[in-house]
Amino acid sequence: MRSTVLLIAAHPDDEVFGAGGTLARHVDDGDGVHLAFVAEGESSRPEQASGVAPRKDAARAAAATLGCAAPVFFGLADQRLDTLPLLDIIRRIEALVAEIGPSVIYTHHPGDLNADHRLVAHAALTACRPLPGSVVRAIYAFEVPSSTEWSPGGAATQFSPARFVDISRTMQRKMEALRCYDAEMRPFPHPRSYEAVQALATWRGACAGLAAAEAFVVLREVADAQSLSR
Ligand SMILES: [Zn+2]
Repeated sequence: MRSTVLLIAAHPDDEVFGAGGTLARHVDDGDGVHLAFVAEGESSRPEQASGVAPRKDAARAAAATLGCAAPVFFGLADQRLDTLPLLDIIRRIEALVAEIGPSVIYTHHPGDLNADHRLVAHAALTACRPLPGSVVRAIYAFEVPSSTEWSPGGAATQFSPARFVDISRTMQRKMEALRCYDAEMRPFPHPRSYEAVQALATWRGACAGLAAAEAFVVLREVADAQSLSR
């Protein structure tokens, strides 16, 4: 196993929207890929009550499709993370990081419109602060349609990616994993439509001379003696 990767998301489905193709690439490279969901993600939408697979099952199926380990669910209150002490979320992430020892972290962009996303980003950054001896070498923020681009303007909240991961070989698996969350998808031209997800991958790819890409804001990268030559 080359390296250990941990994606920390607020809700099941954020991981596929934001980094599904990249996670599949990590798996192909032989990396160990772990997923943690902070909020329970149980939707109150009516269609969820009518025989659609519960969100946790969808998350497990999506993880299996991408080749990730079985997800960890913190099970905190969906869309109400701001009612909890941030320290509670930080401590849970700290414990998981200590257990798994990831060198690469993926999480939300701190400027997202969704409050759960913002809190998880801040909690992840705090839990992975670069203390001496920290194993975390990189933290990347992904974008989630209908939250990242719906954020108010301004430099503090703008998603300005500097890292583009070629997902042309894993785009199909990303779309397969997304189908596990079919109940969360919306008709085009909603940003959470299959067409818009494909269009975003095409555009992010075009931004970097690639056929398809996922884009990330670099929140931190530490190049030590080993990692500079990669
Ligand atoms: Zn979300």
